[in-house]
Amino acid sequence: MADDPRTTSAADPSDPSGSSGEPPRRSLWRRYLDIPLIWKLAVALVLGVVAGLAVGEPITVIEPLGDIFLRLLSMLVMPLILLTLVSGVASVSPTTLGRIGGKAFIYYLVTTAFAMAAGIGLALLISPGAGLTLDGTEEVEEQSAPPLSQVLTDIVPENIFSALADGRVLAVMFFALVAGVALAFLQDSGEERLSSLAADLRRVVDGGVELVFLIIRGVLQYSPIGVFALIAVVVGETGADALLPLAKLTGVVYGGIAVQIVVYTVILLLFRAPIGRFFRAAKEPMLTGFVTRSSSGTLPVTSQAAEKLGVGKGVYSFTLPLGATINMDGTAIYVGAATVFVADVTGAQLTLAQLATVAAVGVLASVGTAGVPGAGLIMLTMAVTSAGLPMGPVALVAGIDAILDMGRTVCNVTGDLTGTRVIAKSEKGMLAEDAGRRARPDSAVEREEAPGRPRIR
Ligand code: ASP
Repeated sequence: MADDPRTTSAADPSDPSGSSGEPPRRSLWRRYLDIPLIWKLAVALVLGVVAGLAVGEPITVIEPLGDIFLRLLSMLVMPLILLTLVSGVASVSPTTLGRIGGKAFIYYLVTTAFAMAAGIGLALLISPGAGLTLDGTEEVEEQSAPPLSQVLTDIVPENIFSALADGRVLAVMFFALVAGVALAFLQDSGEERLSSLAADLRRVVDGGVELVFLIIRGVLQYSPIGVFALIAVVVGETGADALLPLAKLTGVVYGGIAVQIVVYTVILLLFRAPIGRFFRAAKEPMLTGFVTRSSSGTLPVTSQAAEKLGVGKGVYSFTLPLGATINMDGTAIYVGAATVFVADVTGAQLTLAQLATVAAVGVLASVGTAGVPGAGLIMLTMAVTSAGLPMGPVALVAGIDAILDMGRTVCNVTGDLTGTRVIAKSEKGMLAEDAGRRARPDSAVEREEAPGRPRIR
């Protein structure tokens, strides 16, 4: 698996140094590729923070560089979900699929509920809003959660093309599931013509999956520039001053996220996952989630990490897009903590019934809300409304939402990947534990970043 789509082992015939016996000069591009991606991203992150603090608001001129990164990722999300899910579903039996779906749903619901409790608990302990007076001026619109019946109906797309165009993850997943199951039936058809057509179609879909992954590897080489721009713009716009009065809330949210990541580590240990290897694979989606603030947008990178971990397509093609939509542990921590913050600022005492309502609304709202930047803020307004609290203090939170969104998206994508790894472990033949030993190291980057992709059918 080459990070540079043009990687070849053949010498460049136009390289004059090849014939003189001198070691060939490495081009700048080649040298760039040879630096491990995580270092490039780390440098980009630090430089972005420094540039944002030094330049301030005018740094927004480089916003297009970040937007290009976001667009490159979202360009890949829908083809990735559609192709990997059709291919993944066609390779497992409907019973296995049902079991994986059930496990994913329970895992996601339980961890989200735990995260919500952690957020509320920590905030009650620390009282992040105590002593703060309200001077937020931004108007925040009230939101109400769509009825559950609507959320369920929307899962079935009326038109697959508009679902793809609108980026409706659950609707596209529904279509891909149906198509994958139908393809599996066609493959098993007793009629020679149908089974051979299905085999051809399957090859096209599998080829499409490989194509998307190759493009993802190319996009990742652009990611340091995107990361630099995105982080510089957020820091430039928010500034250190905006953060200070809300430092306690930021601390509670990030503290809750840290607790949740420890919980993931414990879960992984219980399922005998090598922690070092897990986090080595997870670091890229975590960092991508941090800067893009979108778990749906990070899906291409999370899927690649699942491949590195040796998880079968039959599992991750289903659990990752599902997780990006319904599993939002970081968001739950934030909604819980920020609701307590709102109550603190307004001097209200939350009753147990109000807290239960907040938790229920938060968990349910996360099912129907896509993993996009700022989704958590919408859920917060729903929770605050349902608890009967005033909306004013939400404006304060909105001012630093981007900073909080970064952390909660990291938590969300880590939760999705943890669930995926755990579910793969619990399914027979869905985890290639020795994936790392099957590497075909074509370059230093590849040796560092990509321990081979197992084929599990
Ligand atoms: N941005 C988060 C995500 O994509 C959702 C949120 O706003 O909390 O996972």
